[in-house]
Amino acid sequence: MRILETMRPRWIETLVRLSAQSLRRELRCFNRSGPIVSLNGKQLINLASNNYLGLADDPRLLSSAKDAIEKYGLGSGASPLVSGHFEVHEMLETKLAEFKGAEASLVFSSGYAANVGVLSALATPRDVIFLDALVHASLHDGARLSGAEVRRYRHNDLEDLRRLIRSTSSVRGERIVVTDGVFSMDGDFAPLPELIELCEEMNAILVVDDAHGTGIVGENGRGTAEYFKVEERIPVQIGTLSKAFGLQGGFVVGSRTLIDFIINRARSFIYSTAISPILAATALCAIEIVKTEGWRRQTARNHRLCLKERLQEKGYEIKGEIDAPMILVMIGEAAETLELSSKLEEKGIFAPAIRPPTVPQGTSRIRLAPMATHSVEQIEKAIDAFPKRNSTF
Ligand SMILES: *Cc1c(COP(=O)(O)O)cnc(C)c1O
Repeated sequence: MRILETMRPRWIETLVRLSAQSLRRELRCFNRSGPIVSLNGKQLINLASNNYLGLADDPRLLSSAKDAIEKYGLGSGASPLVSGHFEVHEMLETKLAEFKGAEASLVFSSGYAANVGVLSALATPRDVIFLDALVHASLHDGARLSGAEVRRYRHNDLEDLRRLIRSTSSVRGERIVVTDGVFSMDGDFAPLPELIELCEEMNAILVVDDAHGTGIVGENGRGTAEYFKVEERIPVQIGTLSKAFGLQGGFVVGSRTLIDFIINRARSFIYSTAISPILAATALCAIEIVKTEGWRRQTARNHRLCLKERLQEKGYEIKGEIDAPMILVMIGEAAETLELSSKLEEKGIFAPAIRPPTVPQGTSRIRLAPMATHSVEQIEKAIDAFPKRNSTF
């Protein structure tokens, strides 16, 4: 077979530059997403997965997936509006809406697709979208695709947002405010009650992407809105099945009218194959587990608390709300953070370095996301692997 070799100078230059800046990314092969993973033949304690509740290989989900294979086969075969929307998708949408305390919901092939589809449907070039400076990349992409004017407000800064909204008072279109519920790389929450007040006052539509809150934040895991007791007051909420639920797929919840509108206007929904019925059936089961097994949230929280306190004792600066699913170990320079991450890996701990452009220059960090299914011994081992801060390692 002949291999076609293509390259352009820009591709090479980019790769060389990224390497020089310690910013070049490479794929590595893992074997699963549980508490222990193998990488290059070595067993590691995995603190880098968003499978926060350990559901990705839960025996009940595996067995519901097997039943679904028997019943439905593998793929859905078409986009939802053609023939890919099965009864099991409909059941999942009903259950997600109920779980989130909303009237209706719609499932997308990923959280990324949900964000791009929803924002590009909601906004037009006549409208203005206000993005928190730290929202997920997919919300930036959706905002840009909509053609709306995009303004970024300082992270969680209500005064800056108010000022920006006021400065667009001559715009006749909609104002759409977009935030994450939990910010993945900082572990903090959006101030939802205050954002809701401001949006109601300004007649703006609030969109909350609760990818990291869903399933883990709030007494019953219904998300950041439950945590702040504002579930009925957010017009558009987005979530994903790929984090706490341990599966794959995204969704939006809101009023029936909102969902009907999205069905007709979100191109990433209309022009993409419906998620596999296996995922839909398994997600039904995962929601039930999330609702009934509060110990999973509690155990993951205990692990975070332990990591936080003990690493602080070792001299590290830790960021992140304890009720958010991740904690951040602040290091600084990308190269130093990478070095610590590889040191941890040598000691059997997988904890990734988060570097620019994901986070601002000089604020590189290690992200730790313990799972409900980690043991206390595994968490202890992770703590022991961190050298005392500022000692040379
Ligand atoms: C992970 C994530 C997404 C994307 O969800 P996928 O299901 O992985 O495509 C969107 N928004 C936020 C805030 C996320 O963390």
